[in-house]
Amino acid sequence: MSGAPRVGVLALQGDVREHAAVLDGLGAEVVPVRRPDQLAAVDALVLPGGESTTLTLLLASSGLAGPLAERLAGGMPALGTCAGMILLGGEVVDGRPGQRGLGAIDVAVRRNAFGRQIASFEADLQVTGVDGPMHAVFIRAPVVEKAGDLVEVLATVRLGDEDRPVVCRQGNVVVASFHPELSGDGRLHALALAPLLG
Ligand code: GLN
Repeated sequence: MSGAPRVGVLALQGDVREHAAVLDGLGAEVVPVRRPDQLAAVDALVLPGGESTTLTLLLASSGLAGPLAERLAGGMPALGTCAGMILLGGEVVDGRPGQRGLGAIDVAVRRNAFGRQIASFEADLQVTGVDGPMHAVFIRAPVVEKAGDLVEVLATVRLGDEDRPVVCRQGNVVVASFHPELSGDGRLHALALAPLLG
């Protein structure tokens, strides 16, 4: 590839600006993606946090859902954070009736898994493939309940008496329950973009 990779940020809702700033810091050309023609012009896509039920509706009404599923099936690198994790996964536990992810990574994801009391919290995590701890901001975050055989679990957090996956990768798709962009941390973005950066 010549020049900087063109990296899209799904810009239907959510914390688009923070992701754009992190990607800019990595030297990517950042493209807000609201329409299928914009999706067609990017090499990779970041799906931000927000509200997964709303984002699912907006993906359908914008005409992006079908083309996005096709690009992901074709191996486009993607990073999904928080609601973006729900969108890239498959089964949604505690979703709206009929809510399903795009199936780009074989995980069942539980929405709002940390309940009310600690609906939002911060933790320092060790993430496989990332040097040093990551400061992770969880906001009404999901966790992975079930992961298929092809899924690598890169980080977990304790929930009740179990360690639950909060960062996973399958092929070129990386998902995280938390918001690395809110800490200005680009290391998961770099991990997801590694196939483009060589
Ligand atoms: N709870 C939200 C949802 O289910 C996700 C929250 C977030 O992205 N910060 O979509």
